[in-house]
Amino acid sequence: MKSDVVIIGSGLGGLQCAYTLAKKGMHVCVLERASVLGGCIQSFIRKGHTFDTGFHYVGGLDEGQPLHQLFSYYDLMGLDWQKNGSAF
Ligand SMILES: Cc1cc2nc3c(=O)[nH]c(=O)nc-3n(C[C@H](O)[C@H](O)[C@H](O)COP(=O)(O)OP(=O)(O)OC[C@H]3O[C@@H](n4cnc5c(N)ncnc54)[C@H](O)[C@@H]3O)c2cc1C
Repeated sequence: MKSDVVIIGSGLGGLQCAYTLAKKGMHVCVLERASVLGGCIQSFIRKGHTFDTGFHYVGGLDEGQPLHQLFSYYDLMGLDWQKNGSAF
């Protein structure tokens, strides 16, 4: 398939760009040199527990706060965000 845009790297920045452009109707090709997508944002499982490598805290997700609008745009507000150990 012909691509309108080629993005090098599938970290948070690359994936956000790709998602934004795809939502605008562009055909996007993301090239990643690693075997797993996500760059710094990875997870791994040890003894049944899932660990995140590079994304532990997100602030400003409440209604009216800066990241709420951004995360809504990226359809991320449906995730099970945890705040201070309680359900978000
Ligand atoms: C330990 C740690 C904890 C963190 N905690 C938080 C947190 O709690 N909250 C928060 O908001 N942020 C946190 N961050 C920061 C956040 O994870 C990073 O800022 C963000 O993920 C960086 O995204 P990026 O797309 O800029 O770069 P990267 O994630 O580095 O992505 C770059 C990608 O490009 C690929 N690439 C590079 N060169 C090429 C090439 N020539 N060809 C193909 N692919 C290539 C790489 O393999 C990589 O996958 C943390 C980071 C770390 C390391």
